[in-house]
Amino acid sequence: MREIEPGADAPTFHSVGNARPIFLDHHSTTPVDARVAQVVLHAMTEAIGNPNSLEHVYGEEALALVVRARHLVSELVGADPDDVHFTSGSTEAIRLAVNAAISVVRGKTPHLALTRVEHRAVLDSVEEARQQGARVSWIEVDRSARIVDGSLEHVLAAGVDLVCVMAANNEVGTVYPIAELAARIHASGAAILVDGTQAAGRLELNARRWHLDYLAVSGHKMYGPKGVGALITPSGDATARMAFVGHAGTPNVPGIAGFGEACRLRRLEMAEDEHRISAMRDALESALTATLPNLVVNGDREGRLANSLHISVPGVPNEAVVARLRRKVAISTGAACMSGAQTPSHVLVAMGLSRDAQEGALRIGLGKFNTPAEIDRAGREIASAVLDAQDALCENGRL
Ligand code: PLP
Repeated sequence: MREIEPGADAPTFHSVGNARPIFLDHHSTTPVDARVAQVVLHAMTEAIGNPNSLEHVYGEEALALVVRARHLVSELVGADPDDVHFTSGSTEAIRLAVNAAISVVRGKTPHLALTRVEHRAVLDSVEEARQQGARVSWIEVDRSARIVDGSLEHVLAAGVDLVCVMAANNEVGTVYPIAELAARIHASGAAILVDGTQAAGRLELNARRWHLDYLAVSGHKMYGPKGVGALITPSGDATARMAFVGHAGTPNVPGIAGFGEACRLRRLEMAEDEHRISAMRDALESALTATLPNLVVNGDREGRLANSLHISVPGVPNEAVVARLRRKVAISTGAACMSGAQTPSHVLVAMGLSRDAQEGALRIGLGKFNTPAEIDRAGREIASAVLDAQDALCENGRL
């Protein structure tokens, strides 16, 4: 991880002339929609009360914002407002869910299962449970990061209590058939925790109709604020719900209000935005494929998020490419928590990518504020950075 000096000065922005680098790292986070920011500002400067202090209008106004947000979140994910528990983001929601699921297991060692491509937030929570005595089983994926036939049945047959599966992968964008998986998981008597962080606001999710036990979502992946999210517990039993009592405190009203507004906008605009984003993604993919003959597209091309383009140029180290693009296009070598860590991505390892393909992997994530002109420019910049890195390797005799 690159060290950032804590400076007394205001942060400086890297720019070339007046142009900021084109932001194509929307899996790591998304810019806040200006309409969301307005709601946040209103909560910070006008509805300034504490929603737990209802003796005056300020508290009532703040509470009204929280209640509205709960309603808007529930509408986006097909839940009831009472199912929505606000958290500081998906990481906290996932941890609460794993703990809640374990707390309802009686008279036996809790048994958890997860796919090999879950986010670090799930891996860490499950590892914590394992260290406290839980049993853990893995669900295998194929080269496109899809669940391998029979792998889920294999772990279910072993008597699993909770299965953790993401709705969409944060590296390669592969989308999972959650409704179908939930039905299979429930048929075996297990509960399901869905990490909906990348999918919520991009794809339809219906927590109640699909009988999800736990669903984690996050504001900053859907043009909302950072540091706010929710755990949705549509069919959580009474004991699981109890896990949230006493966690209340004073809620993050501006964040929650902004998150609610982000959910409202996604519900109204998601279909049209995602359609436009996928057309830009396809154009970028075609442009890169045409210029870089060795390029491989990773993930499930038939079933991936509209904004995801994960590529490898085997033999060309991704860090050399990202460094060349630093002031032009913001893309990533992997998941936010792993970038710069110099360790291979567990997702790409699980998919069985060659070492060369792992080292040449680039994650490109588009968003709703990108324009076709930007994408056209980004395509040229990315291709030229790859070719330049390749030439440098040839000159050094490494290719
Ligand atoms: N799950 C997935 C799939 C993610 O992509 C992320 C964030 O990168 C998280 C969980 C963690 O979310 P948060 O940043 O809200 O804690």
